[in-house]
Amino acid sequence: MSDAALTLPGWRHVYSGKVRDLYEPDASAAGVALRERHGDVVLVVASDRVSAYDHVLSPGVPGKGVVLTQLSLWWFEQLADLVPNHVVSTDVPGAVAGRAMVCRRLDMFPVECVARGYLTGSGLAEYRQNGEVTGIALPAGLVDGSRLPEPVFTPATKAELGEHDENVRFSVVVDTVGPETAETLRDLTLAVYARAERVARERGVILADTKLEFGTDPVTGAVTLGDEVLTPDSSRFWPVDGWEPGRAQPSFDKQFVRDWLTSSASGWDRASDTPPPPLPADVVERTRARYIEAFERLTGRTPDL
Ligand code: ATP
Ligand code: MG
Repeated sequence: MSDAALTLPGWRHVYSGKVRDLYEPDASAAGVALRERHGDVVLVVASDRVSAYDHVLSPGVPGKGVVLTQLSLWWFEQLADLVPNHVVSTDVPGAVAGRAMVCRRLDMFPVECVARGYLTGSGLAEYRQNGEVTGIALPAGLVDGSRLPEPVFTPATKAELGEHDENVRFSVVVDTVGPETAETLRDLTLAVYARAERVARERGVILADTKLEFGTDPVTGAVTLGDEVLTPDSSRFWPVDGWEPGRAQPSFDKQFVRDWLTSSASGWDRASDTPPPPLPADVVERTRARYIEAFERLTGRTPDL
C-alpha cells in the first residue's frame, strides 16, 4: 500500500489495512529502547487513503490521516472514565507526526462492534427486508434516518481485504468470543455510543451510528478499546439542524464518497468485480472539507494540518 514502506527509525512495518499501517519496534538499538520504554506496542499510522464498499480508492484525501488520528485521540480522552484504551504515547517519528499513536498491542476480537441510534445504510437495507437488524426486531414504519426507540448493538464480522463485512446476530458474537466477552463488547459499545451521542449532540452533530474495535490487553487482561474511534470513517455524523427522516441526510463523513461512487457520474457498478474509478479532484476536496468540519464541530478546534 502507498506509504506502507516508510522508513521509521526504530520501527518495522508489520501490517497494512485499508487505511492504517502498523509497525512494531525493530531489533535496532532504537527499537530495543522503544520496547524497554513502552513494552509490547504497535505504532498505528493513519494514512490519507480512503476506503468505501471495502475498496481502497485513489487518490487519497490530503490531511485525512491527521484528522482521523487527532479526532480519535480527543475521543479517547472523553471516554477514558468509561473504557480503557490502547493509547500509550503520541511521541512518534517526525515523518508521521500528527497521524500516528504508539499503542498497546492488543489481541483484537474479530468483531466490528457497531452501535446504531438511527436507521440508515446496511441497517436500513436489512430492515426493509424483514423488519429486523441483526435479528433485533424494530417497530414498523421506520424510514431512512429514523431515530430508533433505543440504540442497538448490531455487530458485523471483520472481512479480509476485498471481502465485505457482514452484519451478524448477537449469537454469532457469542459463538466467536464466548458469552461473557460478547456481553462485555455489547455493553461497552452501547455505553460508548450513549456518551458520544450526547457529546456530539451538544455540538450540533447527530451520531447516527459508529463502529468500534476492541481487544484484550495482554498485560492487564482487560477488554480495551483499540483502533480509531468516532471518526468520519467509522461513524455517520449528521448536522442536527438538517435532520429530516425519509431521505438521505446531509453528513460530515464518508457518505459523500459512497454517494459519488454509486451515482451515474462515477460509471461504476458496485456489484461488479471491477475496481472503482479514481476520485475526481472536487470529490477529494469536498470530502476533505467534510472531515475537517466534523473535527471542528466536535472538538471546537482547528486541525493542525
Ligand atoms: P483489516 O484488519 O481487515 O485490514 P481494515 O482495512 O479496517 O481492516 P485498518 O483499519 O486500515 O484495517 O488497519 C488497522 C488494523 O489494526 C486493523 O486490523 C485493526 O484491527 C488493527 N488494530 C488496531 N488497533 C490495534 C492494536 N492496539 N493492536 C493490534 N492491532 C490493532
Ligand atoms: Mg479498520
